[in-house]
Amino acid sequence: MTEIPQERRVVTAIPGPKSQELQARRVASVAGGVGSVLPVFTARAGGGVIEDVDGNRLIDFGSGIAVTSVGASAEAVVRRASAQLADFTHTCFMVTPYEGYVEVCEALAELTPGDHAKKSALFNSGAEAVENAVKIARSYTKRQAVVVFDHGYHGRTNLTMALTAKNMPYKQGFGPFAPEVYRVPVAYGYRWPTGPENCGPEAAAQAIDQMTKQIGAENIAAIIIEPVLGEGGFIEPAKGFLPAIVEFANANGIVFVADEIQSGFCRTGQWFACEDEGIVPDLITTAKGIAGGLPLAAVTGRAEIMDSVHGGGLGGTYGGNPVACAGALGAIETMRELDLNGKAKRIEEVMKGRLAAMREKYADKVGCSIGDIRGRGAMIAIELVKDPATKEPNPEAAGALAKACHAEGLLVLTCGTYGNVLRFLPPLVIGEELLNEGLDILENAFAGI
Ligand SMILES: *Cc1c(COP(=O)(O)O)cnc(C)c1O
Repeated sequence: MTEIPQERRVVTAIPGPKSQELQARRVASVAGGVGSVLPVFTARAGGGVIEDVDGNRLIDFGSGIAVTSVGASAEAVVRRASAQLADFTHTCFMVTPYEGYVEVCEALAELTPGDHAKKSALFNSGAEAVENAVKIARSYTKRQAVVVFDHGYHGRTNLTMALTAKNMPYKQGFGPFAPEVYRVPVAYGYRWPTGPENCGPEAAAQAIDQMTKQIGAENIAAIIIEPVLGEGGFIEPAKGFLPAIVEFANANGIVFVADEIQSGFCRTGQWFACEDEGIVPDLITTAKGIAGGLPLAAVTGRAEIMDSVHGGGLGGTYGGNPVACAGALGAIETMRELDLNGKAKRIEEVMKGRLAAMREKYADKVGCSIGDIRGRGAMIAIELVKDPATKEPNPEAAGALAKACHAEGLLVLTCGTYGNVLRFLPPLVIGEELLNEGLDILENAFAGI
């Protein structure tokens, strides 16, 4: 296991000369459509730190997009995956099965919400899990329509592009998209015209009205939603929205799918974000945080729904790869042993306290304000606006802030439909000193833009 000193260190420009050399090779050989937030080439990573090839150590507020919640070289992940690698790398579960796959499905049945009988199928990526959730829901209901929400993100494959709301960069020029996908409003409290207090029930009523009038409830196979919307801007649907949608789904024989690919596995301070409103989804999709950085994804759900698909109807060559399964078992072991739900809650407390103080301190700053502070656990964001009265999005400020943080050795990511949200997704194992140092850098950057 890599033991990286848990300290920020900036010894060259960022990116440094070695990263720049590699970047030149990358530009010559890697397709231009594949971007990078910060072209700093990684040498090793662990805890709350990414060390680059020039010897800089960055504070990690990204976790590889909410993946390395246990750190990028967690002891249990490395130990279990290495042992599995030495035993065998692959047989294909559809050819000759192995125990690790079954163990991951058992863990998913135990950890996901609800005490009904559950089954799982494993895949490689989040998009693949979402695609399979749609296959399963259609097979079970014998209906075709799929309902998704404004600001939703579900992946980059053809069907999941159709499910994703934002055009640029995810969809532009890549159509035609899959049919029978319908988009309805979500309860975005900060931008709801009648205010956040009214948002939950009003947005639910609008969404349900559209589903009833425009699609017909009896035609809907699945409703898919992220309990905290990730790429769309860390939007927590206003209180009451999710329960109303679930109730509508249950009353109409619609499969309710929680896409917890970003919000799951302790990220929000619960094993799954939908637990906060007591929601028990019919199906739940997971990926990202599940396996400490190894590629693994799952659909977990009610046994009778999961088993409605004919034998051989689900699968894939690599789905539930044994090394990835070992990684997942190591990640889950780490989450339990280190109480990463507790750690995520503590990160929320520290971050929200500091961010609220920052908003207060810079309330009179002209041209850029923190309009909203939101999120749960270690999935926290600030929405930047030009003027808190008009709430006009300020994507330029988000870009400038990210750039200023990067130069000081703090890795942060942006998101949001309007590109004006700065999001913070530190590994849950990050030390509190590093966390505070990262927030110091952010505050200095905010003062300077
Ligand atoms: C990242 C993400 C996906 C897609 O996962 P990939 O592994 O990139 O295919 C789907 N849904 C949500 C909510 C995500 O955050």
